[in-house]
Amino acid sequence: MKTKLITDLTVKKVCEGFVYNSLEEKGLFGLNGQLIIQPEYQRNYIYNDGKKDVAVIQSILSGYPLGLIYFNKREDGKLEILDGQQRITSIGRFTTGKFAIKINGMEQYFSGLATNLQDKIMDYPFLIYECEGAESEIKEWFKTINMAGVPLVEQELLNSIYSGQFVSLAKAEFSNSGNSLVQKWSAYISGDVKRQAYLERALEWVSKGNIENYMSLHRHDDNINELKTYFNTVIDWVSTVFVDVEKEMKGLEWGRLYETYHNKPYNPNEVSQLVHKLYADPYVKNRRGIFEFILGGCKHTELLDVRIFDEATKRTVYANQTAEAKEKGKSNCPICASDVRPEINSKIWEQKDMDADHITAWSKGGKTDIKNCQMLCRHHNQAKGNK
Ligand SMILES: [Zn+2]
Repeated sequence: MKTKLITDLTVKKVCEGFVYNSLEEKGLFGLNGQLIIQPEYQRNYIYNDGKKDVAVIQSILSGYPLGLIYFNKREDGKLEILDGQQRITSIGRFTTGKFAIKINGMEQYFSGLATNLQDKIMDYPFLIYECEGAESEIKEWFKTINMAGVPLVEQELLNSIYSGQFVSLAKAEFSNSGNSLVQKWSAYISGDVKRQAYLERALEWVSKGNIENYMSLHRHDDNINELKTYFNTVIDWVSTVFVDVEKEMKGLEWGRLYETYHNKPYNPNEVSQLVHKLYADPYVKNRRGIFEFILGGCKHTELLDVRIFDEATKRTVYANQTAEAKEKGKSNCPICASDVRPEINSKIWEQKDMDADHITAWSKGGKTDIKNCQMLCRHHNQAKGNK
């Protein structure tokens, strides 16, 4: 790989012919069309948060260094940005009036800045390494510089490794915050659409967790039909079974739940009533478990992390039960007490060897209060399980 240090490219030159596509949220071109700002393996523009983009401009005005920029020289002679795309897009957006910065407490756009400040920005020289090499070499190196700087998230890295038409189409659908469906999807998916969280979920679902394998297999596809169809099928299934949208649904493993339960029929009205009932139940500690609990036929109470009896309740019940048992000469575990073998039916257990049990199971409406609490020996408590 050949490298060359370039010091004569100023902001003015690099931002000549700057084009920003706000629909795709990408800086596209600079250097009068000679520079490709966002090659397809690059992440989306994520600096437009009113902080990082502003900080880039403030750095220039304060005379701070912006750090090294890396360009890759392509076979056709054009340049593309390997590293520095976020900084250059921020500067290009500022000089074309896309955002303002605060100077002495006043919001100022580029066009409203004093001439000397405008010049200071336009004359700012970038420090650029221009590199020339094989695609594989460049990508390997791209991975390395990104490990040194702000790390790419896993999916961004995979997008760069498997870049091509498939990734471009997939990104256009799943990492485009301008896609009107993102709002609907955000009820079920957590993370930042621009940092590839939605694309990652879509790929994870269709590949059953083997994202890299799937991307490698489909790298040269000219469509994303399967990916899109599978994703929409999962979303449609969730939103049909659960008509309510609760905030705890966000980020659940919907792909796995779909695979496990989509062949079972559900009555959305009954499901909705159950959701409301469980949301209103103060004993349910883990609301995120409610959805799989219902899908699984309301059997696996461990998903709900139902509140357990507190220590004071257990001590009181143990004391009462033990005193009564001693008086009768029976075991203080009510199940042991009914055993025919004398060594068992008269055994007095210590509290540390007993567990609290819901007399009427929680799943059958039994409450977690002292009236519904009994102490059982560990063996019988486990044998009783969730019956
Ligand atoms: Zn027992």
